[in-house]
Amino acid sequence: MRTPVIAGNWKMYKNIDEAKSLAIELKNLVSEVRDRQVFICPSFVCLAAVRDIVKDTRIALGAQNVNYEEEGAYTGEVSADMLKSIGVSFVILGHSERRAYFHETDESINKKLKKVLSKSMTPIVCVGELLEDRERGSTADVIKKQIHGCLENISPEDLIKIVIAYEPVWAIGTGKTASPEQAEEVHALIRGELKSKYNNSVSEQVRIQYGGSVKPGNIDELMKKPNIDGALVGGASLKAEDFARIVKFEG
Ligand code: PEP
Repeated sequence: MRTPVIAGNWKMYKNIDEAKSLAIELKNLVSEVRDRQVFICPSFVCLAAVRDIVKDTRIALGAQNVNYEEEGAYTGEVSADMLKSIGVSFVILGHSERRAYFHETDESINKKLKKVLSKSMTPIVCVGELLEDRERGSTADVIKKQIHGCLENISPEDLIKIVIAYEPVWAIGTGKTASPEQAEEVHALIRGELKSKYNNSVSEQVRIQYGGSVKPGNIDELMKKPNIDGALVGGASLKAEDFARIVKFEG
């Protein structure tokens, strides 16, 4: 049985007061939730304040990015050790916005992945095709390339600690969700790739989240699919009631 995992990516939204209010509202709305993992990813500057609000709750703290170096003269960057020391337990890696605007590649994501694992935090590795890829019929090739590139030299023992997020780029922040069938098709493909790269037992343990305009109105249908193990939520995670409803999905 894979424990469902629901994540909120707050991106570059919410100043400190807004982040605190959102965290307080959310904490009250999801206090009853038991059988699923939930984490929220505020900006770096809001991590400590949000941590203080969600401590002793079932909401964990996540970060949106990390540097792969241990430490050093990298102005403006944040290390895995710093994230760990502030109470972060999940780190999103290779979000499509980071690939598109900050030149992240499968190779740099792989380095970040190894660093995050070395600090015993859970990496969320994002993959997803562009609209052109889908229209050209190359979704499967793009996803396979990203999976193999991001997971290079990752052992089976480490693989099961990783969460993969399938996020079709054309569905992120656009209001266009992949249908549950479209999402399931790619999730099954990812699991199949993991099975051939590792083995069946390992691939069956890896959790694969769907991300791309997830909302209260579509989460239940998505979560009914056998290979969809959770959601990575952007826009809807900025509204406490919407995110809480997503967390309380009925699947
Ligand atoms: C995301 O940021 O990962 C995301 C899926 O955004 P949205 O839910 O707004 O599409």
